[in-house]
Amino acid sequence: MRILLVEDERSAARMIAKGLREHGHGVDVVGDGASAVELAATATYDVVVLDLLLPMKSGLEVCRELRSKGDAVPVLMLTARDAVDDRIVGLDAGADDYLTKPFHFGELLARVRALTRRRVLPLLPERFECGRLALNTRTQEAWVEGQPIELTAREYALLEYLCRRKGAVISREEIAEHVWDGRYDPCSNVIDVYVQRLRRKLDRGQRSFIRTRRGAGYQLIGTS
Ligand code: CA
Repeated sequence: MRILLVEDERSAARMIAKGLREHGHGVDVVGDGASAVELAATATYDVVVLDLLLPMKSGLEVCRELRSKGDAVPVLMLTARDAVDDRIVGLDAGADDYLTKPFHFGELLARVRALTRRRVLPLLPERFECGRLALNTRTQEAWVEGQPIELTAREYALLEYLCRRKGAVISREEIAEHVWDGRYDPCSNVIDVYVQRLRRKLDRGQRSFIRTRRGAGYQLIGTS
């Protein structure tokens, strides 16, 4: 998933971003509301994690502005106070969910997962099978013919994205947008490198799960 994290407290932002990245998410971080609105207009995010109290524009203002522009991106609001008022106002401003600080990182992850499950993209069930390949989307594990495959968080994220779009030809730009973050260099061949790694781990000398469509991108196909 590609996540926009809006948090002005540097140490908190660093910690949350690090944790999300370790779970295979691409994370862009900004520290004020005005930058958040700007960035959200230029990139497509799967989720916005939005602190309520921010310089320049508050989380509420950011949320209202996104919705008034027709941006339906799921918003998870972070609030330092446990005041019911804040939550009501936040939800009324268009937030989809909220989390009160301090929170357990595991809860943040679970809520991000829940929000992305509601997205338009076809969602994978907890257990997904495609020919010889099987995924558990909750534990982020993969198997080929019942044998567990060791994947890094990013490799898993790429594989899950390809599975979600199974059969479709997916451009490198789309993959970058959903699996990498703003630090992705469009001139690099990092996506091709990751696809090669996945093929090495998954294919085991058999017909590849991931087909290259020259000049167009990649396509996950069911192999049996
Ligand atoms: Ca804050």
